[in-house]
Amino acid sequence: MMRRVLIAAGVAGLACGGLWASGIAARAAEALGASSAPDFALAGELTQGGWARGSAPAGTRISFAGKDVPVAPDGRFFIAFDRDAPGKPVLSATLAGGRVVERELTIAPRAWQIEHIPIGPKPGTPPNPEYQKRREGELAQINAARRTDHPVEGWRQKFIWPVHGRLSGRFGSQRIYNGTPGSYHSGMDIATGASGTPFVAPADGVVILAAESPFSLEGRLLMIDHGMGLNSAFLHCSKLAVKVGDVVRQGQYIGNIGMTGRATGPHLHWSIKWRDARLDPSLFAGAMPGK
Ligand SMILES: [Zn+2]
Repeated sequence: MMRRVLIAAGVAGLACGGLWASGIAARAAEALGASSAPDFALAGELTQGGWARGSAPAGTRISFAGKDVPVAPDGRFFIAFDRDAPGKPVLSATLAGGRVVERELTIAPRAWQIEHIPIGPKPGTPPNPEYQKRREGELAQINAARRTDHPVEGWRQKFIWPVHGRLSGRFGSQRIYNGTPGSYHSGMDIATGASGTPFVAPADGVVILAAESPFSLEGRLLMIDHGMGLNSAFLHCSKLAVKVGDVVRQGQYIGNIGMTGRATGPHLHWSIKWRDARLDPSLFAGAMPGK
């Protein structure tokens, strides 16, 4: 009974084109009064590895899971949910008048592809100081690129697949070695059966890293900032067609797939992050065309 009342409080959001997913429940008593309900809405993929776009009245400040979220001048904002996101994060809106409205989101859990290997993990090779130093430099470049923030609008767009092909590795899949979990797969692997296939930008953005000299794991690595803390990375490229600072448009040719770095065959590994959250590209681009 209570739950039905809470969902009804979101009707204002439905009317203005957005929608409250059925799992969203208002926590603050103020949100229940229909006349005083804030006219803000949220729509997207409210599941682990997913995302949501919202809109709020002018002057609203938004925070999600305790951290401030930027709001565009038109009131639009973006949030996303890590592969291992807890089920009930809180979205908090401070309205222009100072009133605070909190909503608990319901993030649906996923059934990840888990493979149990009945033997222990392979013994690691002894640490090699030269490699470690090189690796630290690579990670520093990746982290520095992710910290940059550009006023680009790709976060507003429906993403497209950067290349069409067979999905040879799924986001979130994981091997567990004799009870010890290995790290999960952080992106989507797309294979076309050959090196050299061109790929395009899945959404507008600006190039924040273009590693012409291949990194030890990622190989030739391209990263694009889509704005609002959302970015894409493309690994194992044979060729990069853009450089740092280039503004790219959705559908623009940006590189060619390959098998540089740690790769057993030619494919494009496409990963998406929002802040520290690792996200599922298929929840941005939908089903692979023709598959
Ligand atoms: Zn991969």
